[in-house]
Amino acid sequence: MRISVDRVISRLNEIYECGEQKSGIHSRVAYSPEDKKGREVFKNCLREAGMRIRQDEAGNLIARLEGEENLPSILVGSHLDTVIDGGKYDGALGCVAGLEVAETLVKSGFKLRHPLEIIIFADEEGIRFGNGMFGSSAFCGKDLNDFAWDDKDSDGKLRKDVLREFGVELEKAAQAVRSQDTVSCMLELHVEQGGILEENKMSLGIVTSIAGVKRYEVVVRGEANHSGSTQMCHRKDALAAASKFISQLPELVKKYGDEFTVATVGCIDAEPGAVNVIPGKCSFQLEIRDQKESVMLTMETVCRELLINITKDKDMSFTMEQVSSHRPGTMDEKIQDAFRSVCGDKHLAYQNLPSGAFHDSLLLTEKFPTGMLFIPSINGISHSPLENSRREDIEKGCQVLLETILKLDKKEG
Ligand SMILES: [Zn+2]
Repeated sequence: MRISVDRVISRLNEIYECGEQKSGIHSRVAYSPEDKKGREVFKNCLREAGMRIRQDEAGNLIARLEGEENLPSILVGSHLDTVIDGGKYDGALGCVAGLEVAETLVKSGFKLRHPLEIIIFADEEGIRFGNGMFGSSAFCGKDLNDFAWDDKDSDGKLRKDVLREFGVELEKAAQAVRSQDTVSCMLELHVEQGGILEENKMSLGIVTSIAGVKRYEVVVRGEANHSGSTQMCHRKDALAAASKFISQLPELVKKYGDEFTVATVGCIDAEPGAVNVIPGKCSFQLEIRDQKESVMLTMETVCRELLINITKDKDMSFTMEQVSSHRPGTMDEKIQDAFRSVCGDKHLAYQNLPSGAFHDSLLLTEKFPTGMLFIPSINGISHSPLENSRREDIEKGCQVLLETILKLDKKEG
């Protein structure tokens, strides 16, 4: 059985075009008219493949192909929403690949033992309301309180109203939870969104784990004062203290992290914010990612210690509050082995690698056996219109996905 790379690429192009905006950029931000249009196109393809479609209580789109036996389902999919001015492959590749697997099976008249479900998770990127993975959170039975009803998008529209227009009642979203006994495993094909595979001239990456992410709101408090008349030795400059901390982060990661640890301050705000006033308050967000939770906790401790050291001399103070936390996820060993064995049979070179970016699959690892397969992103670029992947890599990725599903279907259970 062979997948059709022409069909995959033409569908990726068709879905990408659904995101075209008047300004010429392409985006399918969650719940937008473009996101809906992309889903409609995708639904038509699913219908043509003869699949039964439903939208669950959290807005996840699920299509099902019945199996020969009464067994839990093999899930395959990703997300169709994008960042603003995003690319053609992030998320969409995994969705179209799932559809391609189903269509190849149907066209060949081959029926799996397990039901096959194509799943499109709602709002993975979190662009509209600031926090993502809504659909997969509900699907995995996570606490949905982080997705506040009265969160507003940039147009001032409330989350609950936007979701209602999308056919989702927030108070019912938790009903989308899936029990463990209904799912055999979950597979996601995705673009790497980094440059490791390309650097090593590999077409396929077997994901071993997905980094956890912890985010903190840090506020350093000093004293606002006149910039002209306050001598340097008498200042309690909150921004200068914050800068000292930020500039030492690479050193901290080098000393206490491992090869995959990253720490980032991506936004910062100084108050009162005038050229002639020493900043009395500086707020910034710190993000720590790693493949091991223990390393993330060590990083948190040493960051706190550094902030204590920086602020204590000058009688300044700080607070560091965790605002979100996702534990790292380990991909299922049996699924990794199945990917490796398919690659081995086909003499395809692959690399085992961790994912620094997070995906819906991160949440799935906590509840269901989950596997992820990467193909290279040219020049390591993603979340950009320049995002690109080679035709031959797309073909290999989809074919290995199909054959891995066939292999997993044969096993017991
Ligand atoms: Zn993605």
